[in-house]
Amino acid sequence: MRETSRTRSGERVKAKAAPDAATLLAWYDVSARVLPWRARGGAKPDPYRVWLSEIMLQQTRVETVLPYYAKFLSRWPDVTALANARQEEVLSAWAGLGYYARARNLHACAKAVVAEFAGIFPEDEIELRRLPGIGAYTSAAVSAIAFGRKATPVDGNIERVMSRLFAVEEKLPAAKKTLARLAAELTPALRAGDFAQALMDLGATICTPKKPACAICPWLEPCVARGRGDQETFPRKVEKAEGKLRKGAAFVVLREDDHILLRTRGEKGLLASMTEVPGSEWNAEYKESTASAPMRGLKWRKVSGVVRHVFTHFPLELTVYFVRVPKKAGAPKAMRFVPLDELDREALPSVMRKVIAHALEFSSEPEFTRSKQE
Ligand code: SF4
Repeated sequence: MRETSRTRSGERVKAKAAPDAATLLAWYDVSARVLPWRARGGAKPDPYRVWLSEIMLQQTRVETVLPYYAKFLSRWPDVTALANARQEEVLSAWAGLGYYARARNLHACAKAVVAEFAGIFPEDEIELRRLPGIGAYTSAAVSAIAFGRKATPVDGNIERVMSRLFAVEEKLPAAKKTLARLAAELTPALRAGDFAQALMDLGATICTPKKPACAICPWLEPCVARGRGDQETFPRKVEKAEGKLRKGAAFVVLREDDHILLRTRGEKGLLASMTEVPGSEWNAEYKESTASAPMRGLKWRKVSGVVRHVFTHFPLELTVYFVRVPKKAGAPKAMRFVPLDELDREALPSVMRKVIAHALEFSSEPEFTRSKQE
């Protein structure tokens, strides 16, 4: 596969050789990242570990995943153990990793593998895709990496590599099909799992979004964009409008015995079944004057600044209110007081951890401490 292309000034550039799997695999053999879910020294990959890591790695960096992966594996060493766990335990262990639908699907998938496949993951991409939380990328990754099937997982990293390697001018997201086809055409029948992981490593460590390290890239010679010198401008993308800013209020009630007031979100929608401090709805039309506190008759203090968090589809800004209540205070209906030192057992999403940290920092300010004592 030899590609020619033109620079922006119109000069025709010819790639020096065609990219091939053998070159990338030879590089992978000496440069592969050492990751705990990867089988080493010719050992057979464990499909449970491959699947668990692939679910955790969706939209999440390797460094972030590592401690969660270790925690899950020591707590639930195989798919049957995970299937037998309670959902709250799984959500709680997942707290902080984000995209919580993944945790619910992870648990549902483990149950389905045990119930429908006697605890043995299916090898085929199509069968894998029927399981909860497994889409096109994950089914291809598990099929290739765990079972050596010829399949090509294509994520944003791999799209970037393909777009540069072949200087694909078509814009994302329309270009997805083209980029997936180019990656599939390069995939060898043998060592498809290693090839997938080699592509992942190349995208993560060398062909990075900014300042790719082309000088040490195994595909330096055949890379069309590199030949033209405009590799950093790929992949081409249709500009997308950012989600509209949503706002809301969060109310932090701290009891004198260091218990905090919490509740559980509904079973559907964003952050379903996760733990939160009471608060308003989050929307673009939010007005501070409409924020309604969970306990009446208290002297609420507005914490200076706001807590910002970015979800996949929208940025969020929360105004935080804080109050300290006596030890004997009871929790309103459907809420509970939880000791601060037991928060790790709660399925608290990152945004709520930020809210609590913001409020607790405020509670220790001299001004607040002074007014409390008055
Ligand atoms: S040569 Fe550079 S731009 Fe091309 S694939 Fe390698 S790292 Fe990416």
